[in-house]
Amino acid sequence: MRYLSTRGDPERRGFSDILLEGLAPDGGLYLPERYPQVDAATLARWRGLGYADLAFEILSLFIDDIPPADLRRLVDATYTEAIFGTKAITPLRRLEDGVFIEALSNGPTLAFKDMAMQLLGNLFEYELGRRGEQLNILGATSGDTGSAAEYAMRGKKGVRVFMLSPNGRMSPFQQAQMFSLQDANIHNIAIEGVFDDCQDIVKAVSNDLEFKRRNRIGTVNSINWARLLAQVVYYFAGYFQATKVNGEPLSFAVPSGNFGNICAGHVARSMGLPIRRLVLATNENDVLDEFFRSGRYRVRGAAVETSSPSMDISKASNFERFVFDLLGRDSARTRELFGATLAREGGFTLTPAEFAPAAGFGFVSGRSTHADRLATIRDTWQRFGTMIDTHTADGLKVGREHRDAGVPMVVLETAQPAKFAETIREATGREPERPAALQGLEALPRRFMVMAVDAGTVKRYIEEHLQ
Ligand SMILES: *Cc1c(COP(=O)(O)O)cnc(C)c1O
Repeated sequence: MRYLSTRGDPERRGFSDILLEGLAPDGGLYLPERYPQVDAATLARWRGLGYADLAFEILSLFIDDIPPADLRRLVDATYTEAIFGTKAITPLRRLEDGVFIEALSNGPTLAFKDMAMQLLGNLFEYELGRRGEQLNILGATSGDTGSAAEYAMRGKKGVRVFMLSPNGRMSPFQQAQMFSLQDANIHNIAIEGVFDDCQDIVKAVSNDLEFKRRNRIGTVNSINWARLLAQVVYYFAGYFQATKVNGEPLSFAVPSGNFGNICAGHVARSMGLPIRRLVLATNENDVLDEFFRSGRYRVRGAAVETSSPSMDISKASNFERFVFDLLGRDSARTRELFGATLAREGGFTLTPAEFAPAAGFGFVSGRSTHADRLATIRDTWQRFGTMIDTHTADGLKVGREHRDAGVPMVVLETAQPAKFAETIREATGREPERPAALQGLEALPRRFMVMAVDAGTVKRYIEEHLQ
């Protein structure tokens, strides 16, 4: 399997070549040259598989430059009951007739990013070892991404993580989760500023190409193809749990921000998984909902802060992948829209002819507000005795608006309520339960540095800690 860029770079690359990369050299995103097709016989064979075996089968269709025995070992080491809490890894529970919740949030940081990041940690360690190279991951986080990256990379050979976060601004739970890590290869840097200051520092350091090359600086952001690929697996796993026979249609509702999660659903559907609808749910930051209603993509100046903060985005970094497919893989038009037009006009509008096929890709959308979240969390607790987190509530609310008679809806649970206790208390008057392993988290000793908003200081710190 070879990979191409959405912006037309003629070069084709193997999986291992793009594994450690972010953007393609022409600024585009990587996609496989074609989506492998899964026929009825394959679906029949896969239905009985456990999660790790299923992951191996799916990944093998996209990865041909890692020996199968090695890939199997990496996958088996990743999707275990010890790491993901249950044998099913992404267990499905029935909420009401035809509505299910698939838990993607039973990993170490209680959010769905663990599903991909845990595999990425093992793949990075393997590939860096094979090349005899090192990688220093520099990132900025306001919560979920940073902690998922740190828990995936902790103790991994050849990898160091330098994670910037706004000092005192993450939730107490998130701070405790990240700062209690004692691994020597994890560096928490609390910046005396806001999240944008952290991101600006990462940009400043990354723009210093000489520094970047000399110190082998990389990232693990959501545009990484391997992350997206790992997420394809749970669409299949959810399908097999929610249906009795192959061929039955099923819909998924996906709480969305950067379009990474639902883009994996698009890949699964493109492979032939019988997905009726991909329901995209946004919060008040509704740039994607606007697109799927109108064909107009309008990047916002800044994201609004909401009670489903992991979906607070002003532009969706994976969205270009879908638009490329929607445009029949026209890379010249994709380059024009996401390059010059976006830079000049802050967005673009597809022509009616370009936008019309979107429905054929199964996409529909909706938005949810703070009041909707409170009502959905309260209702789910009162009627079903189930607590759901704020992001999952957005998915459930919008998913219900797009039900088709006789077609089950699987809502992806992207985080556990324990991470967002304040809103859960507001909605239900109760404290969300926390997994036993995380009791007393806030009392653990912490390991982090506080630094001024200054890229030079951060650079010096990185160089001093590479030995
Ligand atoms: C990251 C995240 C999302 C959004 O996922 P995207 O892939 O960015 O669309 C939704 N919910 C939670 C809890 C997250 O951490």
